[in-house]
Amino acid sequence: MLISVVVPCYNEEKVIAMTYDQLRAALEKITDDYEMIFVNDGSSDGTIGALKRFADSDKHVKYISFSRNFGKESAMLAGLRFASGDYTVIMDADLQHPPELIAEMLTYAQEGYDQVIGRRDRDGDDKRNAFFARTYYRLVDRLTDVKLADGVGDFRMLSRKALDALLTMNEYNRFSKGLFSWIGFKEKIIHYKNRQRAAGESKWNFGSLIKYGVDGVLSFNNKPLRFCFVLGAAAIGVSLVYLLSLFLSILFEGIDLPGYFTTIFTICLFGGVQLISIGIIGEYIGRIYYEVKRRPHFLIDETNFHTNLSKKEL
Ligand code: UDP
Ligand code: MG
Repeated sequence: MLISVVVPCYNEEKVIAMTYDQLRAALEKITDDYEMIFVNDGSSDGTIGALKRFADSDKHVKYISFSRNFGKESAMLAGLRFASGDYTVIMDADLQHPPELIAEMLTYAQEGYDQVIGRRDRDGDDKRNAFFARTYYRLVDRLTDVKLADGVGDFRMLSRKALDALLTMNEYNRFSKGLFSWIGFKEKIIHYKNRQRAAGESKWNFGSLIKYGVDGVLSFNNKPLRFCFVLGAAAIGVSLVYLLSLFLSILFEGIDLPGYFTTIFTICLFGGVQLISIGIIGEYIGRIYYEVKRRPHFLIDETNFHTNLSKKEL
């Protein structure tokens, strides 16, 4: 198999046929040796029906259907585990990732680049969102050890080597952007123009974006824990200075009782510092909790792959 294309789909009924047509057209121009792996992430609309229809008439179409919605990260992982291509592409089902780019990606991949990454500009994006995104990436860059670039997403072609490396990481809380960057290998970035989703609607809302943002920072290192430590040390430093000055003033000027404001102020300040620290520690413990359970990333309801499922599930 030369090329595998993994497409996670969640309620993409409105756009999936268009995506399938364009993807097939783009791949057919390159080779006949390809597979399209559509992962139905527990859609509640007609997505799975459409996928089965494509599969009936086209042997290049593979589908994997989950027992419920497990999230895009799990859907990508499932597709990647089943992909058998020398080169594997990950792309969204909404045509925001242009299939025509695959040919160019392949050229670079065959030159020896292990990750050929599509990078979009932010033209036509909501100004406010673009601003938040840019600020976020700058922040993540500071806070974590992995490098994330603005406009770089999951749209990319991976060599077999890079894909196998990616699959050795079996963590439950997956943050692919970070994992891609973590594995390294030779990278090539190609630029493309930002596009709006062809049909249907985005699955993101403000809450899920915040969660994603926090995941990005926490899943890659323990710098936030170190931040708690620094915060605590700074608080101790400040309070020592304050205690000393208080002590001296008592020594030289006698006890001066009114101190209601300072008392309340310190209680509030330190209460806040402690709660933040406990919260950060709690986030890590929560993650450990999910990791130690070692639950599967997804459960497959049906698929047209004829492989040993139980091996691939875990
Ligand atoms: N997706 C998925 N599971 C989910 C949410 C999204 O498989 O729980 C898929 C979705 O079908 C699409 C891709 O992830 O192919 C990106 O989703 P979307 O277009 O909603 O995100 P956006 O482009 O707005 O960031
Ligand atoms: Mg989209």
